[in-house]
Amino acid sequence: MTDIVAPIFVQSVDAVLPQMADAVKQGADIIELRCDQANREIIEALLGRPEIRCKPIIVTVRAKAEGGLFSGSETDRLNLILHACRLKPQYVDIEYATWQKNPEFVAQAVPLLAKDPTDNSGRPKLILSTHDFSSRPPDLQQRLTAMAEISPACIIKAAYQAENLVEALEAFRLYEELPKAVRQPLVIIAMGEAGLITRVLAAKYNAAFTFAIPAGGATTAPGQPTITDLIHTYHFKSQVRNSLVYGVMGWPVSHSISPMIHNAGFHSVGFPGVYVPLPIAPEYEAFCATVNALRGLRDLNFRGASVTIPHKAHAARYLESSVGMLDETSARIGVINTLYFSSDGSVAGTNSDWYGAIEAMRAATGWNLTDLAFKRVAVLGAGGAARAMVAGMASLGATVVVYNRTLKRAQELAYEFNGKIGHVSAALLDEFSKTNCSVVINCTPAGMSPHVKTTPVDDMTVINSTMVVFDTVYNPRRTRFLDISAKQGAQTIEGLEMLVRQAVVQFQGFTGKSAPLSVMRVAAEAAMARD
Ligand code: NAP
Repeated sequence: MTDIVAPIFVQSVDAVLPQMADAVKQGADIIELRCDQANREIIEALLGRPEIRCKPIIVTVRAKAEGGLFSGSETDRLNLILHACRLKPQYVDIEYATWQKNPEFVAQAVPLLAKDPTDNSGRPKLILSTHDFSSRPPDLQQRLTAMAEISPACIIKAAYQAENLVEALEAFRLYEELPKAVRQPLVIIAMGEAGLITRVLAAKYNAAFTFAIPAGGATTAPGQPTITDLIHTYHFKSQVRNSLVYGVMGWPVSHSISPMIHNAGFHSVGFPGVYVPLPIAPEYEAFCATVNALRGLRDLNFRGASVTIPHKAHAARYLESSVGMLDETSARIGVINTLYFSSDGSVAGTNSDWYGAIEAMRAATGWNLTDLAFKRVAVLGAGGAARAMVAGMASLGATVVVYNRTLKRAQELAYEFNGKIGHVSAALLDEFSKTNCSVVINCTPAGMSPHVKTTPVDDMTVINSTMVVFDTVYNPRRTRFLDISAKQGAQTIEGLEMLVRQAVVQFQGFTGKSAPLSVMRVAAEAAMARD
């Protein structure tokens, strides 16, 4: 079982005890007392407080060279570590470099420590650690193997800054390969945004522990999630070795609410999946390198991804180069937002955006697909979202007018899809004030946070109570465009419903199960309310 460790900086007794209680309440299994800013007096005062024993403790006094805050001399730091052993912690974290450089300290420390992982004398077990806050050390594998040779070391821990996801995934390769050479339990963490996956999937890789902060607590290293996220979003305690992994590929992606939506769905139907953010730099080369690295890990069981800006065209190109399967409408759209990877190495893709939009519309209006064929639809914008919408609507036989501020783009889109069952024409966005369409779909980012006061068109007087107005923007949920349309009597549909419905399509492809729509919607709404 992988424990959740809550690191807490010890600055005063009064501050540390309530933080410990909060961390335990939120689900921490172990408390790491980071004594970098503590002194002997604080340690003495803690000795008299029984609350300190509410959970197992790790004592750490981290050197500045390894990302810590201790500002005194090295001799003072080592003495403080020895002194802090009086707290009878279950573990003491000592850096490998410290162990190598200070034989006198080692001689004093060894009698205080457990002899090996099986020693149940009650003496603290040694976590031998190494940290690099600037990059991934080239000799990481050799270093970890050498650390494992140190006899009292009970847990071997490494943390390094990952520049990108490919570097972060190295941690998983080490988890897969090192157990042949290393007998102790491992903790291998990639730090930074790209490394979140190594913290979230620590239980799947059977790490000794992962670090997560209590709500409102200070991080002790870049990229630490909160305990609440780990437990309630990623269902950390339900992870098993065979858990299947999914994610959202984009740049930036940390704001995405897709992990909340999909993980809630997985959990609700008992599907053994974990869905994580996958930040990938904007270039196609970065996209291919990362997807290949994810697929190349034997034990990761990477089975699928949602794909968002700027990678939707890259995903289609990747699929084509991998001779993957693609459905007809998605092929016509030319960009995809979903990738599926099978255990036999095959790849498939789809675009679930257009179907999500149509399902959102059908649910709100009660129309069936035949009804849609008789509608006149105004699509505002001519980018990726508009493309999916035009392709979807045209394939159902609707009459579509693409309104865009750059007429040429609208004309190109209309030319491409006109006659593919429905009729598609183009117009300047300014001409929307004369539209005779009864359905209006905003596919521009106008109105999206932080530009919440903007609308895709200035003149909205044409909107009336016979119309349905749909905004694909979902942050904020109620855009100004929707608010004005509703005031003028139109029926309005929020972009969040499209997001949830396209996720439902992905979910069914990921799991082979029917999706728990209401659970996923509640999770999306909660995530939006949280932001
Ligand atoms: P995109 O490819 O960059 O296209 C943006 C389009 O909007 C372009 O045609 C652009 O016009 C136009 N535009 C940009 N800013 C504008 C403004 N201030 N006023 C009027 N027109 C403007 O973007 P995209 O990928 O299509 O995404 C558009 C929006 O769709 C996103 O903001 C996202 O919120 C939404 N979306 C929602 C979902 C969902 O599930 N709810 C899914 C996908 C996308 P020019 O051609 O003249 O530059």
